[in-house]
Amino acid sequence: MERVVIVGAGHAGVAAAAALRDEKYSGPIVLVSDETHAPYQRPPLSKAYLKGSLGRESLVLRGAAFYDQQRVDTKFGDAVVSIDRAAKQVCFGSGRSLGYEHLILATGARARPAPFADADLAGVVTLRNLNDADQLKQRLEAAQDVVVVGAGFIGLEFAATAVAAGKRVTVVEVAPRVMGRAVSPPISDFFATAHREFGTTLLLGTGVSAIEAREGRVCAVWLADGTILPADLVLLGIGVVAEDRLAQECGLTCNNGIVVDAQMKTSDAYVSAIGDCCSHPNIWHGGNLRLESVQNAADQARTVARRLVGRSEDYSALPWFWSDQGDLKLQIAGLLGNADTFVLRGEPQTRAFSVFGFAGDKLCCVESVNRGGDHMAARRLISDKISLSAAQASDISFDLKAYAMRRKLAA
Ligand SMILES: Cc1cc2nc3c(=O)[nH]c(=O)nc-3n(C[C@H](O)[C@H](O)[C@H](O)COP(=O)(O)OP(=O)(O)OC[C@H]3O[C@@H](n4cnc5c(N)ncnc54)[C@H](O)[C@@H]3O)c2cc1C
Repeated sequence: MERVVIVGAGHAGVAAAAALRDEKYSGPIVLVSDETHAPYQRPPLSKAYLKGSLGRESLVLRGAAFYDQQRVDTKFGDAVVSIDRAAKQVCFGSGRSLGYEHLILATGARARPAPFADADLAGVVTLRNLNDADQLKQRLEAAQDVVVVGAGFIGLEFAATAVAAGKRVTVVEVAPRVMGRAVSPPISDFFATAHREFGTTLLLGTGVSAIEAREGRVCAVWLADGTILPADLVLLGIGVVAEDRLAQECGLTCNNGIVVDAQMKTSDAYVSAIGDCCSHPNIWHGGNLRLESVQNAADQARTVARRLVGRSEDYSALPWFWSDQGDLKLQIAGLLGNADTFVLRGEPQTRAFSVFGFAGDKLCCVESVNRGGDHMAARRLISDKISLSAAQASDISFDLKAYAMRRKLAA
């Protein structure tokens, strides 16, 4: 095969370049990014980097030597603006074009636009990339009254950092519970209490109706219930949408992301899509799904690389995720899906416990707070489809890791 062009140098794009070389693909690889920075990790942007405990140099995904040693040609700071599928080439903002034998779209996601008017103001920000994080860090230093719109992972991670920095922080969430789309009710309840204890004001079940400005700068947030919150910094943390504009414009099938098959192939056999930008058939979900996680980006990169060297296999990796909020590390293995029973392991008061989610008698999801051992064992139990009873899950003296190993060896 001739040249592989990868559009997007985030977690998925960089992992795809690395996986192609791991799989002994020896042809040319071109990695393209519209960002000028060397490829970096996104998770710390709302955590250690924002806090200042991790420097910029530690964000780097792969050192400069990687690209040289692995013969990965990089084109950073130049966006792909169109794809000509008939000619098999991508066109850049700079006017240049580049042919491909295979194209991998790893364009990620972009912040969901605000559903209310007047969001385009100084002091109203989103957090998706390093430039956003640098801007947010600077604005946070000067801010007094911080409003976070959306109690999802990024909003809550930011809120925990802002309140620890001595700011008055209010989180506004239209849903009745925090992280409601991703975690079980017991975990939502625990984190709501924890954030209130950190000092954050948490307003659930109420939406934002407008943002008020004075001389072009945000000064207040109006809520649907009539409350007016003073604000000199507003973070919009209301989720992301797939960055699938290029794919749509060149006629690839898209539906909440670029639609791919189980081997990450789009509706054009010469184009693949991986990471946050794609909607893939997920065996753990039982239908198409778009995931936003480092795990998914890295594992899909491996799937596409293997297919391109003739070692096709369907994507089947178990989803897992983490989020750091204050002193709490939340780790999630599996998908909540249609879990109907939740079993606690450990006491929430100790700030170290897990919630095991069962659909019928099948373990489908484990959410761990400050219990890394449970998380690692859960990943094995769920991926290997090892049965576990509610009694075993809740018995803190039952050794999950040893049980998972024993069952695996016996299988
Ligand atoms: C603040 C924050 C915290 C997070 N925390 C966690 C966490 O704790 N755990 C976790 O698992 N996940 C976390 N995530 C999610 C995780 O970072 C993403 O799932 C992951 O980055 C997806 O990788 P990706 O390569 O698909 O997309 P991205 O990392 O978004 O990379 C896509 C790249 O493509 C570029 N691009 C887009 N269009 C073009 C174009 N036309 N031409 C050239 N380049 C283009 C983009 O600028 C970007 O650099 C977090 C995300 C953010 C923003």
